Amino acid sequence: MSDAELQVVARSLRQKSESLRRAGVRHNRRAVKKDLSRASVPAPAPVITPAVMVLPAAAIDHRESVPAERESVLADLAREVAGCTRCEELARCRKQTVFGVGDPCAELCFVGEAPGADEDAQGEPFVGAAGQLLTKIIAAMGLERRRVYICNMLKCRPPGNRTPGTDEIANCRGFLERQLEIIRPKFICALGAVAAKALLNSELSIGRLRGQFHDYRGIPVLCTYHPAYLLRSPDAKKYVWEDIQILMGKLGLHVKT
Ligand code: SF4
Repeated sequence: MSDAELQVVARSLRQKSESLRRAGVRHNRRAVKKDLSRASVPAPAPVITPAVMVLPAAAIDHRESVPAERESVLADLAREVAGCTRCEELARCRKQTVFGVGDPCAELCFVGEAPGADEDAQGEPFVGAAGQLLTKIIAAMGLERRRVYICNMLKCRPPGNRTPGTDEIANCRGFLERQLEIIRPKFICALGAVAAKALLNSELSIGRLRGQFHDYRGIPVLCTYHPAYLLRSPDAKKYVWEDIQILMGKLGLHVKT
C-alpha cells in the first residue's frame, strides 16, 4: 500500500471514530489507536539474503536425502544381521557380524567371501592384509575406498577361516541380496571363487569366470581373484590388474597402460 493510500485509510478511520463518538457510541480508544497505528505503519518488506536463501522443502535437492535414506535402511538391515543365528556354529564363534562398509550410493560394490580374524575383531570387511591390498587396488583405480561399497557373501567369520559351507552361503544370501537392492551399484566386482560362484549360481572356476562380465539381476559382475589369494600367489596380480582395467574402462576411469 502506498503512503497516500495509507493516509486515506487513516483519515477514514478517524472520521468513522468521530461519527461514532457523536452518535453516542462508546468505543475502545485503545483499539482504534491500534488500528490507526497498524494502518499507518507499512508491513516490513521480506528480507531476501541470497547467500542464505532457504529453499522450500519441495525444492531441496533430493540427491542429498538419498544417501541418508539408504544409510538408514542399511543400518536397519545391519541390526537384523547382528541378531542372526541361522548358522549355529558361526553365530556361536563370531565376535560380531561384519555387515559392510562404504558409500550407500556407490557405483561399484566389491563382494568377497567372508570375514577373517581381523574383520571379526573390528567389525569391518577387508581390514586385514588382504583388505589393505584391496585398498591399494581401489587406489590404483583412481578411487577412494570410502567411495565404493565393500561387503562379503557371509556376514560371520567361519571358524579357522575355513571355506563357507553351501548351507551357510544359502542362509546368508538373502542379506547380501537385500544389501545390493538398497545400494543398487552399477557394477559388482566379485572377489574369489566363493563370491563369484555364489553370486552367479555357477559351478565354473574363478579362472573361467574372470576376465568378462556376467549378469546378476541386471548388474554386470566382473569376477577376479581374491586379494588373499594374491598374497599367497603374487604372480596372479597381473590377471587381477587385467580384470580391474576392464572394470575401469566400463566405469569410465582412466586406464593406465
Ligand atoms: S553367516 Fe549370515 S546367515 Fe549365517 S549366522 Fe551369520 S548373518 Fe546369519
